[in-house]
Amino acid sequence: MTDRLNLSLLRKLVQLLAFLFLVYGSAIVGFYTADKISGALPALACAYDQQTADYCTLIPFQHQMDHRVGMVINAGGDLLKALLPSLITLGTFLLMFVVLNKAFCGWICPLGFFQEVLSLIGQKLGLRRIESLPEGLVLRVRPFKWVILLLLVFGLPLLAGLGSVGHELGSPYCSICPSRILTTLAAGDTSQVYLDTSSDGYFVLSLIANLLFGLMLAWGLFVRQPFCRICPMLALHAAFRSIGLVRLVKQGKPRCEKCGLCAKACPMDIREIHTEMEQRDVLFADCTLCGRCVEFCPDKEVLQLKYVTLPLFKADPAYFKRRKQAQGQWEKRNLLAWWRKRRGGAA
Ligand code: SF4
Ligand code: SF4
Ligand code: SF4
Repeated sequence: MTDRLNLSLLRKLVQLLAFLFLVYGSAIVGFYTADKISGALPALACAYDQQTADYCTLIPFQHQMDHRVGMVINAGGDLLKALLPSLITLGTFLLMFVVLNKAFCGWICPLGFFQEVLSLIGQKLGLRRIESLPEGLVLRVRPFKWVILLLLVFGLPLLAGLGSVGHELGSPYCSICPSRILTTLAAGDTSQVYLDTSSDGYFVLSLIANLLFGLMLAWGLFVRQPFCRICPMLALHAAFRSIGLVRLVKQGKPRCEKCGLCAKACPMDIREIHTEMEQRDVLFADCTLCGRCVEFCPDKEVLQLKYVTLPLFKADPAYFKRRKQAQGQWEKRNLLAWWRKRRGGAA
């Protein structure tokens, strides 16, 4: 890394390119290919076809639970055959997921990138931000992503297929997903911002979708990655993270000074990255493999991003000094400070 290019900047460039490709990419690769890629993509990116909300890997799971598994169970058919499409979807997801692991979150996902942009806007506006959420709150929020995955991606669609709940609950996660609204708006399609009054169920779901999107917009200015913390894709990643080839490793004892700078830098408030001293594998369930903890660790090679055994990026005292300085300068420059200075100068 040079003085000008640091890991965070490189990641932002990759995220920007990924955003452009995932929102407008069908113009390059064609609708059919875009459709196939987005259906297996381990990130929330549903405007890939540029025509209407398309889908990420969570929608085939919901459809298969509803139209395939639930209905086959109802009709007394062969359950293994009914599960086959879901297993194929899972297999395709895993084939992609294994290559980048949770870095699909930190480097590729359009919604993850958008929340980082919101955070930067909050910083630049000089808003009073909460850089780290209280530990108790973080721990209480963590289970929600599993509840949303199990209930909205698998449970309710299955019950809809069995006829136990209404058909509006056939794909409930997609009905409330903020990525559907964001990426379609980015593609110039406003049709996903609506209140559906065709039934009470659809009305409630569309209301939740708009509220969730609005809350994400507002909180994103003050808190880092607010939606990621409850995202079901994060839970799905967490379940398979041990097979991914990108790894985050730590040489705790005797080299880690327990300074806590890694945890402070972490946008997901993973304090375990600082306290873990025994385990070498520190890819925790909420990690997005953004690499900020490695950038802000001042001790040589204590934290490392690796591709299997190949080091990609290591903690380094000289890099840390440069990075800290650059971060300090970046944080100082905001519109509020500029405006106060101007007023002070004018007075
Ligand atoms: S956790 Fe965040 S970055 Fe990862 S898929 Fe969900 S929204 Fe995207
Ligand atoms: S633990 Fe490190 S790599 Fe993972 S999300 Fe936190 S800062 Fe990013
Ligand atoms: S920043 Fe590095 S030295 Fe400090 S607690 Fe984290 S891993 Fe240990």
